Amino acid sequence: MKEMLMYINNEWKGSANGAFIDVVDPADQSVYGKIPRGSKEDVDQAVEAARTAFESEAWKQVKPHERGYLLNEIARRIREEKETLALMETQDVGKPLSQGMADVEAAARYFEYYGGVADKILGETIPIEDGILDFTVREPVGVTAHIVPWNYPIQIISRSVAAAIATGNTVVVKSAEDTPATAHRLAQFFDEADLLPGVFNLVTGYGKEAGASLSGHPDINHLTFTGSVPTGIAVMKSAAENVVPVTLELGGKSPNIVFEDCDQEKAVQGVVKSIIQNAGQTCSAGSRLLVDRNIKGEFLTKVVSAFQALQVGPGKEDLDIGPILSESQFEKIMAYLKQAEKDGKILAGGGQAYVDEYKGGYYIAPTVIDGLNHTHPLAQEEIFGPVLTVFQFDGEDEAIRLANDTDYGLVTGVWTENISKAHRVADRIRSGQVFINNYGAGGGIQMPFGGFKKSGFGREKGLEALKNYTAVKNVAIKYR
Ligand code: NAD
Repeated sequence: MKEMLMYINNEWKGSANGAFIDVVDPADQSVYGKIPRGSKEDVDQAVEAARTAFESEAWKQVKPHERGYLLNEIARRIREEKETLALMETQDVGKPLSQGMADVEAAARYFEYYGGVADKILGETIPIEDGILDFTVREPVGVTAHIVPWNYPIQIISRSVAAAIATGNTVVVKSAEDTPATAHRLAQFFDEADLLPGVFNLVTGYGKEAGASLSGHPDINHLTFTGSVPTGIAVMKSAAENVVPVTLELGGKSPNIVFEDCDQEKAVQGVVKSIIQNAGQTCSAGSRLLVDRNIKGEFLTKVVSAFQALQVGPGKEDLDIGPILSESQFEKIMAYLKQAEKDGKILAGGGQAYVDEYKGGYYIAPTVIDGLNHTHPLAQEEIFGPVLTVFQFDGEDEAIRLANDTDYGLVTGVWTENISKAHRVADRIRSGQVFINNYGAGGGIQMPFGGFKKSGFGREKGLEALKNYTAVKNVAIKYR
């Protein structure tokens, strides 16, 4: 049984109450490890350690380029252990191994990218009047808190922690209770990099306990939360009590808009990949297909045959689709599929998939559903499974209306060979990212990522994320 302790003030710790939580392999639901069930007391210790580190002369003396070296050292360790980390991610989340490898690569890239940025965080000089020198400095905000979801743990921790440390903050991470393994390994990398005590802290535990204690903590200076809308609302309320700013990276119901004049082979590939990645358990999953009425029949035939060729199995066999995380996620998806049976037309999949040697695991057959009204819950709500719902449109206006017709606005794919049309559509789409003739641009460490509407606010990734972790101070000097 693998025991993955918390890391607070450069010490490995169980929880103050001595309790643990089992960690399960989704491939067959076997228990393979445990984490401390962190409590308020543990979170208090972690925040205090981060505060002490932030205020310390020792941390102030670490030069920006030295913070960059540190982040690059973490990247080096990630690359050195790429295969092992990918296996850990596969065992924890269930995702196919090659997707685990891609996540680990992205994690290394985040540390390298922000490692390079650490000594390039610039202020401005602002013209006021003769005899006054006015300038701005970007200072670290202080102690930053990071609450992460279970579906892409190593990527999501890396993207915000690297940006926060690059800018001179100290951090407290609350890992996801279901998928804590790579967070623990990252903490070991920080430990081996001889970091000053308290700069990086990791607490584990349930959301309502450790998570809520962190989001409502009066001594944090910023909260980055990635997860579901209801939890996002809860953490925003608790942070508001302390006037702590939040960055919210929430869910999505992202569309692929397929126009008659697209390259159909490429569009089919893009549509299929965007929904089956991580078994559809992805915030930016392309879970709605909006297709031009004139090509709907032929395009759907291609999509359905691609779905029927997909293979489902445990992540370590590296097939197309791995297991669903847990029984409760599985039951949620099955309830949606029952609704689809009643109200729509299932063109592929539609239920549980059985994988012989992994009877304990929960697998869902990749599913395509047609014939629903766009007001239907399956058109509007995040299903978080390999389930694609299909709608047709007549012309650009209707395509845009449908694309924007959910509470979410995270990502949109547009497939057309007409560049003017692509620009017109991109202009009117209400989502944080728009991809033309691709979906995701290979992950895009450098591209700002975040939501419109209930998909959240604030941006992670790229230089844009630095705004989350720095406060602008204006200094005006009168010298005449
Ligand atoms: P979740 O909201 O249930 O949990 C996310 C994290 O919040 C976990 O660490 C959990 O322990 C913690 N938490 C739960 N209740 C809490 C509370 N009351 N106070 C403080 N913390 C609490 O989400 P999940 O099921 O882990 O993840 C899936 C969701 O995350 C989906 O909606 C998905 O779209 C979204 N997501 C968004 C992005 C993005 O970048 N926009 C990326 C990945 C996942």
